[in-house]
Amino acid sequence: MKSAVVVELSTSTELKLAVFSSCSYMEKDINDPLREAFTEVVCFDARLDGKTAKLAEGFDAVCLFVNDSCDAEVIETLSSGGVKFIAMRCAGYDRVDVAAANAAGIRVSRVPAYSPYAIAEHAVTLMLTLNRQVHKSYLRVREGNFTLDGLVGFDMRGKTVGIIGTGKIGRVTAGILKGFGVRIVAYDIFQSAEAIEMGIEYMELEDLLPICDIISLHLPLSEATYHMIDEDAIALMKPQCMVINTSRGGLIDTAAMSEALKRRDVGSLAIDVYEKEQALFFQDLASQSDSQAGSSIPDYFDHEYTMLASLPNVIVTPHQAFLTQEALNNIAESTIISLNEFSRGDTLTNEVKL
Ligand code: NAD
Repeated sequence: MKSAVVVELSTSTELKLAVFSSCSYMEKDINDPLREAFTEVVCFDARLDGKTAKLAEGFDAVCLFVNDSCDAEVIETLSSGGVKFIAMRCAGYDRVDVAAANAAGIRVSRVPAYSPYAIAEHAVTLMLTLNRQVHKSYLRVREGNFTLDGLVGFDMRGKTVGIIGTGKIGRVTAGILKGFGVRIVAYDIFQSAEAIEMGIEYMELEDLLPICDIISLHLPLSEATYHMIDEDAIALMKPQCMVINTSRGGLIDTAAMSEALKRRDVGSLAIDVYEKEQALFFQDLASQSDSQAGSSIPDYFDHEYTMLASLPNVIVTPHQAFLTQEALNNIAESTIISLNEFSRGDTLTNEVKL
C-alpha cells in the first residue's frame, strides 16, 4: 500500500515542533513526513499532561493526539515555555481547553475528517463481531473446540439501527448498514439533508432508544453529550440492544452500563473508546507488569474497566478505529498543512474555534 504523503512541502526553517504521544506505528506515516517538512521536530513517547508539559519548553508548536491532556494548567506551562500553536493530529479536541489556549494566545488546529470510512468500517466490524461472536469462535477453534454452543447470532436484515450523530462518520456508517437491509433511525441536533435523502428517519432520542436493536454513537464529547447514555437512557432500550461506541468514552456512563450488561438489561456492548482510557490505552501494560514481577499489582487491575472488559457480552478495542493507512496519510498531510499555515502566519484552514 502506498504510504507516501502527497503534500506540497514548504519547509519552515523557523518552526520548532514537539510531538507528544509518539509511538512506533506513527514513525513512517506521521513523524517522518513531519521531519521532512520541518527542520526541528522532536518526538516524545510521553503523553502530554501536567508532569510532561515542561518538555515543550522552547518549542513553537506541539503536535498532540487523542489522549494528551491539555487543560488550563498545561496550557499555562506551554505558554510560558513559548508554545504558540497546538496541532491536534485527530478530530476530537475534548481534552484541550481551547478557551484557555486562545486566552493565552495559543491557536489550536485539528484534522476534522481524515477518513470517516476508517471509523465507520470499524463500527460495523464491531457490530458484526459481537453479533456473530467471531471473537469467541476464533479463540475456541485455536484450542481445538469446534462446537457452536453460544454462538447464535441474528440476521441484520430487517433490524432497526439507531445512529446517534449523523455527521460525517454517522452518515458513512448508515450508508454501509443500508446494504444489510436494516431500517435506520437517527437522532442529531441538526438534521442532515444528505441523511434524509438516504432514507434515514430522524426522531427524538427517547423515541429512538426503545425501538433499536443496535445503537451506534457518532457524536463529539461535550458538556451536552457527556453521559448521554446513562441509567435513564439505558432503561429505555430493548434488553437485547447492542451498543457500539467508536466516538468518545465519556458519552457512556460506564458504571451504569456495566451494571445493565450484568443484569442483561443491555444485550451487548462494543467500545473502541473508554471514559478512563488515558490510563490504559496505547500502552503495553502486560509487558510492564511482567517486568515488575514481585512488585505490587498495577492499578489498572483495580480499574472498573477490568470488570467491564471481563463480561462475555463486551468487546473492547484500544481506540484503533482511525488506524488505516489512508487515515494516517491524511492525518500527516493535514497536520503539515496546519503547521505550515501557522509558521507563515496564514489563516488556519482547520482552526478550532469556540
Ligand atoms: P461530525 O462533526 O461530522 O458529526 C458529529 C455530529 O454530532 C453532528 O452531526 C452534530 O450535529 C452532532 N451533535 C453534536 N452535538 C450533539 C448533541 N448535543 N446532540 C445530538 N447531536 C449532536 O463528527 P464526525 O467526524 O462524524 O466524528 C464523530 C466523533 O467520532 C468525533 O467527535 C470523535 O469523537 C469520534 N472519532 C473517533 C475516532 C476513533 O478512532 N475512535 C476517530 C475519529 C473521530
